[in-house]
Amino acid sequence: MFRRVFSLISPKPAIAKMKEYVAGRNIEEVARSYGIRESDVIKLASNENCLGPSPKAVEAIKEVAGSAHLYPSVDAIELQEALAAHYNMPLENIVAGPGMDGVLETLLRVFMDKGDESIIPLPTFSYYENVTSFCSASPVFSRRKPDYSIDVEDVLNNVNKRTRFIFVTSPNNPTGNITPLEDVRAIAESVECLVFVDEAYIDFSDGSAIGLVKKYDNVIVGRTMSKAWGLAGLRIGYAFVPSWVKGQYMKAATPHSISRISVAAAIGALGDVEHYKRSIDIVRKGREFLRGAIPFRTFPSEANFILMDVSPLKSGYVVEECMKRGIILRDCASFRGMGDAFVRVTVGTPAQNRRLVEALSEIKGGL
Ligand SMILES: *Cc1c(COP(=O)(O)O)cnc(C)c1O
Repeated sequence: MFRRVFSLISPKPAIAKMKEYVAGRNIEEVARSYGIRESDVIKLASNENCLGPSPKAVEAIKEVAGSAHLYPSVDAIELQEALAAHYNMPLENIVAGPGMDGVLETLLRVFMDKGDESIIPLPTFSYYENVTSFCSASPVFSRRKPDYSIDVEDVLNNVNKRTRFIFVTSPNNPTGNITPLEDVRAIAESVECLVFVDEAYIDFSDGSAIGLVKKYDNVIVGRTMSKAWGLAGLRIGYAFVPSWVKGQYMKAATPHSISRISVAAAIGALGDVEHYKRSIDIVRKGREFLRGAIPFRTFPSEANFILMDVSPLKSGYVVEECMKRGIILRDCASFRGMGDAFVRVTVGTPAQNRRLVEALSEIKGGL
């Protein structure tokens, strides 16, 4: 075989150094490995909506199926307009992308260059670190306090002239606590870089930072339709940005990156406030039940998941034992700085929650 040596096109060092992303197990896999019926496996690992998508979103998807041969609009303007109306925000402050992950990628493509830095308070969502690396920039980690709140002073001490982004996740994944708006304000007022407030789970809480976008020209609020809106499979994210950011964002965004089906479903979902409210209500009740019933130490949560400390057991063991019983959970050992005794569970339907508690009690009982 003729093999060329591509000495000039090895991956850039930032990528060569990275490990491949390992996704959680899916229902089909777990059913096969453990000989369980697929319908008996429940996934409480990825913070999806336990009620499923809004029927209005499903209807909207069916309606656009026949125009699948046509490109969607270049910038999902129909979705931007629906978001503007829903949130009562000017269009000049809204961008949309393929998931909040996609929005983040575009934003960092605009602002983050080789040698730049982002500040990431740990433990938290790991994609901030990845997108920073994609740009050959460096993540700088700040430790959260023991209650997982952000150490504002430490964050500010890490800011220098290479800092481009500070990532504030509220509620935080996987710990579930929110960051008070005073802290966001204190950070925004003290720095010249951008403050990205990730509100993937704010629907399950109160106190959005959206209002700050109009007051500060360095605050961006990221949102997603993957969690409370029940559309994780369609990859729809958006952000509220200062208007000067939007012009730059539009230059760097991948054209047509939100499919016609996703745009239609998103608009359908936004029109079904009832489903949205039901989704939030079931989470608020479910997390209260779980916090009282889970036989391990849990942390207060403002999101649709709960963090458990399963020590003296190991997270890998608990996750494996739950999987044998047809319940998929998230082992937090892969979160930087989290240790090996933490497991994250998504709040499910009342029946799913009861099954989870039963399984955990059995596992703990056999200690
Ligand atoms: C789920 C999640 C996202 C991203 O969601 P998308 O599906 O890419 O829209 C972003 N941030 C946090 C903290 C999340 O948990």
